[in-house]
Amino acid sequence: MAISDISENALKVLEKRYQGKDEDGNVVESVEQMFRRVSDTIARVDANFDNTADTGKVSDEFFELMTSLRFMPNSPTLMNAGRTLGQLSACFVLPVGDSMEEIFDSVKNAALIHKSGGGTGFSFSRLRQSGASVKSTGGVASGPVSFMKVFNAATEAVKQGGTRRGANMGILRVDHPDILEFIDCKANNSDITNFNISIGITEKFMQAVEEQTDYDLIDPKSGTAVGHLSAVKVFELIVDHAWKNGEPGIIFLDRLNRDNVVPSQGEIESTNPCGEQPLLPYESCNLGSVNLTKMLRRTLTGYEFDFRLLEQTVNEAVHFLDNVIEANNYPLDIIAETTRATRKIGLGVMGWADALLMLEIPYNSEEAIRLADKVMGFINNTGHAASARLAEKRGSFPLFSVSTLREGPAMRNATVTTIAPTGTISMIAGCSSGVEPVFAYAFVRNIMDGTEMVEVNPILMHKLETLGLDKDRALLKRIAREGTIAHIEEIPQEVRDVFVCAHDIRPVDHIRMQAAFQNHTDNAVSKTVNFPKEATRGDVREAYLLAYEEGCKGVTIYRDGSREEQVLNIGEVN
Ligand code: UDP
Repeated sequence: MAISDISENALKVLEKRYQGKDEDGNVVESVEQMFRRVSDTIARVDANFDNTADTGKVSDEFFELMTSLRFMPNSPTLMNAGRTLGQLSACFVLPVGDSMEEIFDSVKNAALIHKSGGGTGFSFSRLRQSGASVKSTGGVASGPVSFMKVFNAATEAVKQGGTRRGANMGILRVDHPDILEFIDCKANNSDITNFNISIGITEKFMQAVEEQTDYDLIDPKSGTAVGHLSAVKVFELIVDHAWKNGEPGIIFLDRLNRDNVVPSQGEIESTNPCGEQPLLPYESCNLGSVNLTKMLRRTLTGYEFDFRLLEQTVNEAVHFLDNVIEANNYPLDIIAETTRATRKIGLGVMGWADALLMLEIPYNSEEAIRLADKVMGFINNTGHAASARLAEKRGSFPLFSVSTLREGPAMRNATVTTIAPTGTISMIAGCSSGVEPVFAYAFVRNIMDGTEMVEVNPILMHKLETLGLDKDRALLKRIAREGTIAHIEEIPQEVRDVFVCAHDIRPVDHIRMQAAFQNHTDNAVSKTVNFPKEATRGDVREAYLLAYEEGCKGVTIYRDGSREEQVLNIGEVN
């Protein structure tokens, strides 16, 4: 079976990180064999439920699902399925208890997860504040931030199966007594580099911001108030730090718990590293994304969504992701148990911005928001129906009868949808990442190991061809330099209106798009709200408040140029 459309860049990524290698580092697996290794391993699971299942046929279906680039599972599934490691999930959350044993158990568990290609999220909110007494030694506790540095150092030392470095999310509740130190802990760009940090915001805190009152700081051990701070001042401090270098982000804890379908199992305190997957302690989740550029069909005048193909793709993807839970080799028994009790999967999308370009709809338009609503609504409904059908055949997730979903149809999976960043799998699929707008129409991509790749957006290239501008080297260089085509007068205005990039889009429009997807997503949406370099702290504050009002579960912002090392750089075409 031919692997259509796979780009040269994609082949490079696959060779470097995904295809099997021998001990000397020689590639011993073709791209086709790699996808076959994955599809065979995931399809075999069908035999566990039906001994007459034609797993060869299912493998062909999964193989075609991936090689047509309609769908990609998260990186660990592509890397590890059918191999000794066999760890297939991208997302984990680990608890951090308030004792040396529990803290260092968690460090060890995180190292095991990182080794297997997964990312870990932690809440440090249960740790007693710095300066609190330690009974056994008569000394004083050093507090959450000092322990985060231990996790950070451990992460630094463990390369993820030789493929990528571990990623972490660190969360502290806004009412933890060490919150000021936490907000400041990444002010220096070279500190705690293996963590993204987010403040766990509560409704109570937001109310205090609105009413401009103080709020209580709570001792995590006794649960009593041990001080208070001005909510507005703390909010402004968060905004100031985010304005300076993008951190901390914020997550709305009460919203994560409003959507916790099994509250009997405890509270959701953290998400995975990129924020899209809230999980219970010791829970993991495997993700996968539909490439929306492949869900379009040609019409006489352009393109339109092919909802039948989308339905088929979502059905196959839910089947695939549910099988991954069975095929998965979990790094700890307790993670296996917790994950199998809820069977969460996270089906999302990628290539949204590219699909809009093909449809000639500006990302920052009402029409795009309406379409996001329609497409993600369709995926969410179709995905839930697919999970319900699987429940009829395979049984519902074990905690279904105590879940908040118990009044409705039985479900195989406690959650179905999540919008991931798709940092690497979108490169394999050759489309824009997640639901992000195109970052720049030509840029140099710095891969984590230091290599660089130059890319010009193929949809823009195609458009320039039809305009007879594709051979204009000076014009292409200018696009690479500026990233945007907004100021290039040779290109007609109506084309410039459609081909907007992340920096041409106002923060409010970024957030509206995030909210439109969030509206139809069980878990959360990975999204960065881009600000131009000259944006003010007031602009950032406004964005945070809007995200709160619009129902987002969190926000991550980035102001251009505020961190020296950016993963994506606007740069020159060689
Ligand atoms: N992740 C990780 N290390 C990385 C990139 C990603 O652990 O270097 C985890 C993390 O939990 C993140 C999730 O994978 O939130 C999904 O990221 P993404 O969609 O970019 O992964 P991909 O499947 O494209 O590699």
